[in-house]
Amino acid sequence: MQNVIKEGWLTFKSIFIGMGVTMRHLFSPSVTELYPEEKIELPKGVRAKLYVNIDDCIGCNLCARACPVNCIDIETVMATSDVDLGKTSTGNPKRFWLTRFNIDMAKCMYCDLCVPPCPTDCIYMVPEYEYSEFDRTNLVYHFSNLQPAMVAEVKEKAEKEAEEKRRKKEEEKKKKEEEKKKKEMQAKNELADNSDEKNDSSKPEKGD
Ligand code: SF4
Ligand code: SF4
Repeated sequence: MQNVIKEGWLTFKSIFIGMGVTMRHLFSPSVTELYPEEKIELPKGVRAKLYVNIDDCIGCNLCARACPVNCIDIETVMATSDVDLGKTSTGNPKRFWLTRFNIDMAKCMYCDLCVPPCPTDCIYMVPEYEYSEFDRTNLVYHFSNLQPAMVAEVKEKAEKEAEEKRRKKEEEKKKKEEEKKKKEMQAKNELADNSDEKNDSSKPEKGD
C-alpha cells in the first residue's frame, strides 16, 4: 500500500515538473529558426566555403603548400615575354597563367590554413553553407577562367619559348667551351715556342 502511494506521488510530481517546464517556455520568446525560410546570420570569420578571386591570384602556390590535406590543385604556366598579364589589385605583378586552380571542398577540413599565406589576399572563406551535392565531383570547384583552347595555346607558346631559351643556352655553352679550348691551345703553343727559343739560345755556337 505504501509503495502504491509513493509511486502515485512520484507520478504526479513528475507531471507537475514537466508541465512547469512547458508553461515556462510557452511564454518565453521562440528560439527555433524556420530554416530554410529563415536563415541565421553567420558570425564574422565563419569558415564555410572557400572562394578564390582568380584575377588577383599570382600563382605562387603558397596556399596549396599550406594545405594539410592537399585539396588545392594549382597548375601554372609562365607567361611568354610578349605577354603582359598586368598586376593584381594589391600591385603584385602577375607572371603566370593559371591553367588550373581547383579546390576539392569534399576534402577540405575548413582549417583556414591556406588563407593567411596568400600575398594578395585572394583566397578566403565566404559565408555560404548551402552547397551540398549528390555527386562528390561537383564539390571540386574550378576557379581558373581559361578555356581549354587558351590553356593549350599558352602551354604551346611557353614550351616553344622554353625550348628556344634552352637552345640559346646550349649554343652559348658550346661557344664558351670552344673559346676556352682555343685559349688553351694558344697557351700551349706559346709555351712550346718559348721552350724552343730557350733551347736554341742555350746551344753553343759553332767556333766557340
Ligand atoms: S581550409 Fe584547410 S583543408 Fe581547406 S583548402 Fe584551406 S588549408 Fe586546405
Ligand atoms: S596563395 Fe594566393 S596568390 Fe598564391 S596561388 Fe594561392 S590564391 Fe593564388
